[in-house]
Amino acid sequence: MADKEIRITFHNSGLRSYIEVDLCRECPRQDGKGCCGHYSPVFYATDLAYLALHRTDLLDLIFSQSHLTILDASITVNNEIDGASYRCRFHKVDGGCVLEQQYRESVCRHFVCPGIAWQQEEELESWRQFFDFLEDYEISLNERIAERLKRAGLTLRNTDNRQEFIDLLKEVYLNETQVVPDVIANQPKEQEFYLVRPLYYGEDWELFYKAHKQ
Ligand code: SF4
Ligand code: SF4
Repeated sequence: MADKEIRITFHNSGLRSYIEVDLCRECPRQDGKGCCGHYSPVFYATDLAYLALHRTDLLDLIFSQSHLTILDASITVNNEIDGASYRCRFHKVDGGCVLEQQYRESVCRHFVCPGIAWQQEEELESWRQFFDFLEDYEISLNERIAERLKRAGLTLRNTDNRQEFIDLLKEVYLNETQVVPDVIANQPKEQEFYLVRPLYYGEDWELFYKAHKQ
Protein backbone atom coordinates (compact mmCIF):
# COMPACT_ATOMS: atom_id res chain seq x y z
CA MET A 1 0.00 0.00 0.00
CA ALA A 2 1.30 3.47 -0.92
CA ASP A 3 -0.23 6.94 -0.88
CA LYS A 4 -0.84 8.49 -4.27
CA GLU A 5 -1.83 11.99 -5.38
CA ILE A 6 -4.83 11.73 -7.70
CA ARG A 7 -6.13 14.47 -9.98
CA ILE A 8 -9.89 14.70 -10.30
CA THR A 9 -11.48 17.10 -12.76
CA PHE A 10 -15.17 17.99 -12.77
CA HIS A 11 -16.63 19.07 -16.09
CA ASN A 12 -19.95 20.90 -16.14
CA SER A 13 -21.46 20.28 -19.58
CA GLY A 14 -25.06 20.21 -18.41
CA LEU A 15 -26.60 16.82 -19.15
CA ARG A 16 -23.30 15.66 -20.61
CA SER A 17 -21.25 16.51 -17.49
CA TYR A 18 -18.54 14.12 -16.45
CA ILE A 19 -15.81 13.39 -13.92
CA GLU A 20 -12.29 12.68 -15.08
CA VAL A 21 -9.73 10.87 -12.89
CA ASP A 22 -6.10 10.59 -13.94
CA LEU A 23 -5.67 7.33 -11.97
CA CYS A 24 -7.93 5.48 -14.46
CA ARG A 25 -5.05 5.41 -16.96
CA GLU A 26 -3.14 3.23 -14.49
CA CYS A 27 -6.09 1.66 -12.67
CA PRO A 28 -4.93 -0.16 -9.50
CA ARG A 29 -7.02 -3.19 -10.56
CA GLN A 30 -4.17 -3.85 -13.03
CA ASP A 31 -6.45 -5.96 -15.23
CA GLY A 32 -6.54 -3.67 -18.26
CA LYS A 33 -10.21 -2.79 -17.81
CA GLY A 34 -10.88 -1.56 -14.26
CA CYS A 35 -14.55 -0.83 -13.57
CA CYS A 36 -15.38 -1.21 -17.29
CA GLY A 37 -14.88 -4.97 -16.79
CA HIS A 38 -18.06 -5.17 -14.76
CA TYR A 39 -20.56 -2.90 -16.41
CA SER A 40 -23.03 -2.92 -19.27
CA PRO A 41 -23.86 0.65 -20.33
CA VAL A 42 -27.52 1.65 -20.52
CA PHE A 43 -28.39 4.46 -22.91
CA TYR A 44 -31.58 6.28 -21.97
CA ALA A 45 -33.65 8.85 -23.86
CA THR A 46 -31.40 11.87 -23.15
CA ASP A 47 -28.27 9.92 -24.21
CA LEU A 48 -29.91 8.63 -27.37
CA ALA A 49 -31.27 12.08 -28.27
CA TYR A 50 -27.84 13.68 -27.80
CA LEU A 51 -26.22 11.04 -30.02
CA ALA A 52 -28.99 11.40 -32.62
CA LEU A 53 -28.34 15.16 -32.72
CA HIS A 54 -24.54 15.09 -32.66
CA ARG A 55 -23.15 11.63 -33.55
CA THR A 56 -25.49 9.42 -35.53
CA ASP A 57 -22.51 7.17 -36.28
CA LEU A 58 -22.27 6.32 -32.57
CA LEU A 59 -25.99 5.65 -32.42
CA ASP A 60 -25.50 3.23 -35.32
CA LEU A 61 -22.54 1.70 -33.46
CA ILE A 62 -24.79 1.05 -30.44
CA PHE A 63 -27.56 -0.50 -32.55
CA SER A 64 -25.03 -2.68 -34.35
CA GLN A 65 -23.76 -4.37 -31.16
CA SER A 66 -24.72 -7.94 -30.38
CA HIS A 67 -26.54 -8.83 -27.14
CA LEU A 68 -28.58 -5.66 -26.78
CA THR A 69 -31.47 -5.36 -24.38
CA ILE A 70 -33.90 -3.00 -26.06
CA LEU A 71 -36.79 -1.65 -24.04
CA ASP A 72 -39.33 1.03 -25.05
CA ALA A 73 -36.91 3.95 -24.58
CA SER A 74 -33.55 2.51 -23.51
CA ILE A 75 -30.82 0.25 -24.84
CA THR A 76 -28.42 -1.82 -22.75
CA VAL A 77 -25.25 -2.95 -24.47
CA ASN A 78 -24.59 -6.16 -22.55
CA ASN A 79 -20.97 -6.91 -21.74
CA GLU A 80 -19.13 -10.03 -22.85
CA ILE A 81 -17.26 -12.68 -20.91
CA ASP A 82 -13.56 -11.91 -20.80
CA GLY A 83 -11.33 -14.30 -18.86
CA ALA A 84 -12.56 -14.63 -15.29
CA SER A 85 -14.73 -11.53 -15.54
CA TYR A 86 -16.39 -9.43 -18.23
CA ARG A 87 -15.59 -6.55 -20.55
CA CYS A 88 -17.75 -3.73 -21.81
CA ARG A 89 -18.10 -3.95 -25.58
CA PHE A 90 -16.81 -0.38 -25.94
CA HIS A 91 -13.64 -1.07 -23.97
CA LYS A 92 -10.43 -1.67 -25.89
CA VAL A 93 -7.25 -2.99 -24.31
CA ASP A 94 -5.34 -0.19 -26.03
CA GLY A 95 -6.84 3.15 -25.08
CA GLY A 96 -9.84 2.11 -22.95
CA CYS A 97 -13.30 3.40 -23.85
CA VAL A 98 -13.85 4.13 -27.53
CA LEU A 99 -16.53 6.71 -26.68
CA GLU A 100 -15.44 10.21 -25.79
CA GLN A 101 -16.74 11.31 -22.39
CA GLN A 102 -19.71 13.39 -23.54
CA TYR A 103 -21.10 10.51 -25.62
CA ARG A 104 -21.12 8.01 -22.73
CA GLU A 105 -24.19 7.29 -20.63
CA SER A 106 -24.52 8.79 -17.16
CA VAL A 107 -23.04 6.04 -14.97
CA CYS A 108 -19.94 6.00 -17.21
CA ARG A 109 -19.69 9.81 -17.00
CA HIS A 110 -20.26 10.07 -13.23
CA PHE A 111 -18.86 6.89 -11.67
CA VAL A 112 -15.72 7.10 -9.56
CA CYS A 113 -14.69 4.04 -7.55
CA PRO A 114 -14.84 3.89 -3.72
CA GLY A 115 -11.03 4.02 -3.26
CA ILE A 116 -11.12 7.62 -4.52
CA ALA A 117 -14.27 8.50 -2.53
CA TRP A 118 -14.23 12.18 -3.55
CA GLN A 119 -17.69 12.75 -2.03
CA GLN A 120 -16.22 12.75 1.46
CA GLU A 121 -14.12 15.90 0.79
CA GLU A 122 -15.75 19.02 2.25
CA GLU A 123 -14.35 21.32 -0.44
CA LEU A 124 -16.08 19.21 -3.11
CA GLU A 125 -19.54 19.61 -1.56
CA SER A 126 -20.85 21.85 -4.39
CA TRP A 127 -19.85 19.19 -6.94
CA ARG A 128 -21.51 16.48 -4.88
CA GLN A 129 -24.72 18.51 -4.89
CA PHE A 130 -24.29 19.23 -8.60
CA PHE A 131 -24.01 15.56 -9.56
CA ASP A 132 -26.85 14.58 -7.17
CA PHE A 133 -29.02 17.20 -8.87
CA LEU A 134 -28.01 16.00 -12.33
CA GLU A 135 -28.90 12.42 -11.48
CA ASP A 136 -32.45 13.38 -10.44
CA TYR A 137 -32.82 15.87 -13.30
CA GLU A 138 -31.78 13.29 -15.87
CA ILE A 139 -34.05 10.57 -14.45
CA SER A 140 -37.10 12.86 -14.54
CA LEU A 141 -36.25 14.06 -18.07
CA ASN A 142 -35.82 10.49 -19.27
CA GLU A 143 -39.18 9.57 -17.78
CA ARG A 144 -40.96 12.57 -19.34
CA ILE A 145 -39.45 11.93 -22.78
CA ALA A 146 -40.23 8.20 -22.60
CA GLU A 147 -43.81 8.97 -21.60
CA ARG A 148 -44.21 11.38 -24.54
CA LEU A 149 -42.91 8.73 -27.00
CA LYS A 150 -45.18 6.11 -25.50
CA ARG A 151 -48.21 8.41 -25.89
CA ALA A 152 -47.26 8.74 -29.58
CA GLY A 153 -47.30 4.95 -29.85
CA LEU A 154 -43.54 4.76 -30.47
CA THR A 155 -41.15 2.24 -28.98
CA LEU A 156 -37.55 1.29 -29.72
CA ARG A 157 -38.64 -2.35 -29.80
CA ASN A 158 -40.34 -1.72 -33.12
CA THR A 159 -37.65 -1.48 -35.78
CA ASP A 160 -40.17 -0.50 -38.48
CA ASN A 161 -40.72 3.04 -37.20
CA ARG A 162 -37.38 3.63 -35.50
CA GLN A 163 -36.67 6.76 -37.55
CA GLU A 164 -40.02 8.19 -36.45
CA PHE A 165 -39.03 7.41 -32.86
CA ILE A 166 -35.66 9.18 -33.29
CA ASP A 167 -37.26 12.23 -34.93
CA LEU A 168 -39.77 12.73 -32.11
CA LEU A 169 -37.09 11.93 -29.52
CA LYS A 170 -34.91 14.79 -30.83
CA GLU A 171 -37.84 17.20 -30.92
CA VAL A 172 -38.99 16.46 -27.35
CA TYR A 173 -35.42 16.55 -26.03
CA LEU A 174 -34.76 19.97 -27.56
CA ASN A 175 -38.04 21.34 -26.14
CA GLU A 176 -37.39 19.90 -22.69
CA THR A 177 -33.84 21.25 -22.45
CA GLN A 178 -34.46 24.82 -23.63
CA VAL A 179 -34.27 26.20 -20.08
CA VAL A 180 -30.99 25.51 -18.30
CA PRO A 181 -31.58 24.85 -14.56
CA ASP A 182 -29.86 27.33 -12.18
CA VAL A 183 -27.78 24.56 -10.59
CA ILE A 184 -26.12 23.94 -13.95
CA ALA A 185 -25.87 27.61 -14.97
CA ASN A 186 -24.25 28.59 -11.63
CA GLN A 187 -21.65 25.83 -11.37
CA PRO A 188 -18.15 26.45 -12.82
CA LYS A 189 -17.49 24.91 -16.24
CA GLU A 190 -14.50 22.97 -15.00
CA GLN A 191 -12.57 22.52 -11.74
CA GLU A 192 -9.57 20.41 -10.89
CA PHE A 193 -8.62 19.07 -7.45
CA TYR A 194 -5.92 16.83 -6.02
CA LEU A 195 -6.67 14.10 -3.48
CA VAL A 196 -4.22 11.83 -1.70
CA ARG A 197 -5.39 8.25 -1.26
CA PRO A 198 -3.80 4.93 -0.28
CA LEU A 199 -3.69 2.56 -3.25
CA TYR A 200 -4.45 -1.15 -3.07
CA TYR A 201 -3.85 -3.39 -6.04
CA GLY A 202 -5.65 -6.11 -7.93
CA GLU A 203 -8.93 -7.21 -6.40
CA ASP A 204 -8.10 -5.33 -3.18
CA TRP A 205 -8.99 -2.14 -5.12
CA GLU A 206 -12.76 -2.23 -4.73
CA LEU A 207 -15.05 -1.30 -7.57
CA PHE A 208 -18.36 -0.93 -5.84
CA TYR A 209 -19.70 0.94 -2.85
CA LYS A 210 -20.96 -1.49 -0.24
CA ALA A 211 -24.52 -1.04 0.99
CA HIS A 212 -24.65 -0.02 4.65
CA LYS A 213 -25.84 -2.83 6.88
CA GLN A 214 -28.68 -1.86 9.25
S1 SF4 B 1 -11.81 1.36 -10.83
FE1 SF4 B 1 -11.48 3.51 -10.28
S2 SF4 B 1 -9.38 3.98 -10.94
FE2 SF4 B 1 -10.02 2.10 -11.97
S3 SF4 B 1 -10.84 2.76 -13.95
FE3 SF4 B 1 -12.60 2.65 -12.52
S4 SF4 B 1 -12.80 4.71 -11.64
FE4 SF4 B 1 -10.78 4.58 -12.61
S1 SF4 C 1 -19.06 2.66 -22.25
FE1 SF4 C 1 -16.93 3.18 -21.94
S2 SF4 C 1 -16.81 4.04 -19.85
FE2 SF4 C 1 -18.77 2.92 -20.05
S3 SF4 C 1 -18.34 0.86 -19.25
FE3 SF4 C 1 -18.06 0.83 -21.48
S4 SF4 C 1 -15.87 1.20 -21.82
FE4 SF4 C 1 -16.36 1.82 -19.72
